[in-house]
Amino acid sequence: MKLIAGNWKMFKGPGAAAEFCLGLREEELEGVDVVVTPPFVSLAVAVQLLAGTEIAVAAQNVHWDEEGAYTGEISPAMLLELGVYGAIVGHSERRQYFGENDETAGKRAQGALAAGMFVIGCVGETEEERERGETESVLRRQVSAFEADDNLVLAYEPVWAIGTGKTATPEIAQDAHALIKSVLDVPVLYGGSVKPDNAAVLLSQPDVDGALVGGASLELESFTAICRAAANIPS
Ligand code: PEP
Repeated sequence: MKLIAGNWKMFKGPGAAAEFCLGLREEELEGVDVVVTPPFVSLAVAVQLLAGTEIAVAAQNVHWDEEGAYTGEISPAMLLELGVYGAIVGHSERRQYFGENDETAGKRAQGALAAGMFVIGCVGETEEERERGETESVLRRQVSAFEADDNLVLAYEPVWAIGTGKTATPEIAQDAHALIKSVLDVPVLYGGSVKPDNAAVLLSQPDVDGALVGGASLELESFTAICRAAANIPS
């Protein structure tokens, strides 16, 4: 079964999150695993409104320690207490704007996994790295920061495809996913301008196990269309 995770980024406060979740719980989404990742302040309402459905709620980041003097951070234990079951770590926007790197992404993943959470670890090359022919070495380095675990999935998100409307071709995605799996044998989601009209072809690639969706996860119609496209791919 494919996994579709919606990364809401810094969109949807509690009011908008509630409206979205009330709509989402009315949808019949079978044959696909669905996760939404609201901003921290909207996690509680999402957990509450999606309780009793198969839709899981994850955070967009998580610290590695249980508690401590880490202003602005949230621990795995705090998220679990809220009913949040997983977290994204190492998203390229964290790496680009907030000093996140392979080491911190790996530590966040290990802390969350050790606490019993599900983790989506993000990797992906920039446009310059791809142009310099460094895609393979960058992916090998980034993936090596994570340790295989039954609760870990990786997301291949080429930075040049995130929020740009430039999607990786199915061949680029398939090659990158195969490479990632040769380093770490875990499911790999594709992320980068996934939309209802390109989801099926990307998700049909043998090593594409699902999608991490940004912009198109913010509207119920486009998000559920991607979920349905995933459900229709024969396994
Ligand atoms: C993302 O933020 O993880 C992402 C893939 O964004 P978008 O779908 O908007 O490119």
